[in-house]
Amino acid sequence: MSCVSLPESFPVPPTLDCWKCPVMRREMAAIELAFRRKTAVTSTLLRSIKKYSEELKARDGGYVYKVMDFCGTHEWTIVHFGLRSLLAKAGVDNVELVAGPGCPVCVTPSYYIEQSIKLALEGVVVYTYGDVFKVPALRPVKGARTLAEARALGGDVRIVHSFLHAIMDARKHNKPSVFVGIGFETVAPGYSEAILKGLVPGHLKLMSLVKLTPPAMFYTLEVVREKPTDFPISGVIAPGHVSTIVGGKAWRPVAEHFEIPVVVAGFEPNDVLMAIAEILRQLARGEHKVVIEYTRAVTWEGDLKAQSSIRTVFETVDSAWRGIGYIPKSGLALRDEFKSHDALEFFGIPDLTPETWRYDLPANCRCAEVNLGKAKPTDCPLFMKACTPDRPIGPCMVSVEGTCAIWARFGGGGLAEEIAREVGAL
Ligand code: SF4
Repeated sequence: MSCVSLPESFPVPPTLDCWKCPVMRREMAAIELAFRRKTAVTSTLLRSIKKYSEELKARDGGYVYKVMDFCGTHEWTIVHFGLRSLLAKAGVDNVELVAGPGCPVCVTPSYYIEQSIKLALEGVVVYTYGDVFKVPALRPVKGARTLAEARALGGDVRIVHSFLHAIMDARKHNKPSVFVGIGFETVAPGYSEAILKGLVPGHLKLMSLVKLTPPAMFYTLEVVREKPTDFPISGVIAPGHVSTIVGGKAWRPVAEHFEIPVVVAGFEPNDVLMAIAEILRQLARGEHKVVIEYTRAVTWEGDLKAQSSIRTVFETVDSAWRGIGYIPKSGLALRDEFKSHDALEFFGIPDLTPETWRYDLPANCRCAEVNLGKAKPTDCPLFMKACTPDRPIGPCMVSVEGTCAIWARFGGGGLAEEIAREVGAL
């Protein structure tokens, strides 16, 4: 099965567009309804944001406070609900929301996509998430640039929702198989627990492509200010789902090193507005601490059992990010005692190294700068011209968490006009 809403035998076409799915549409309507029931909260939050913005303006004049939403899902909320436009309509003109690198599909090096395509075309069963299925590699392999194309050429590529789903399917056959294990800390316990519990059949191997977010946040905050005249990032909206695993404590070094507020936020629009209000409040008061707004899911310590499971199975390694290069201590590799599960080792594929990694984005694609908060999708000459969600050129145009894909699907304004009217900000 490739989709929760489809029957087991449904042959999902490579161009399946989840945004047209009735289940997705129902879910979206429910999210919007939930938001509209809380517009009184929205108005209050907008008033707070405006108040702190005015305080900062009185103190710092035309200084623009850049707030990075690190996570693709936060960017989705911001764009879909038009929060940038909403802030502008509320008269907040000294705050800029900047998207960060929180899209694992966007940052997975092309090399691993190419190797997965190669395996698929050599008869290995390749399990992958739906968005990885369509992400274009830099170099075509035997005529295929994506796993979707590899399947069209006869490769056995199967879309799954999780490693467990791949395990269940792989148990039905005995063919050499690989799970393309892309993701952040959120998915890692699913991989480690399956291995520790002995659930993984011997013929299914894991390509561990897990990336770690706190080191990436450090890196991003350091490089975003290229010129002394650039405004640095003044505050961060930290990823809520990753923080259920790593805890609020994981962000304390960021807040302390860069002396900026960090707010761990949920994914409803009011969560994001609350995070912005808290960041501005701290900036106005000269504070820089980690605050967990998403208290309904995140604790300070995080999920200690999951952390221990991850530590047991994986070690932290320097890892390559697509178009960006190696970020120290930002990936997870299987420890020696679990190497029998390692796809690269099993299939004799040399891993990338800092010496073998090469810049891996297509010509003119500005995905790396988009991911690092140094460019907007609209700064890319290919955006919605050569590169669209139906025909993506760069990796940021594929996943639901990719900034270019989000901007392409929802535009800059989102629901801002409607919401602004409802909350009286117009
Ligand atoms: S629009 Fe396409 S080509 Fe341009 S940065 Fe985004 S993904 Fe890359």
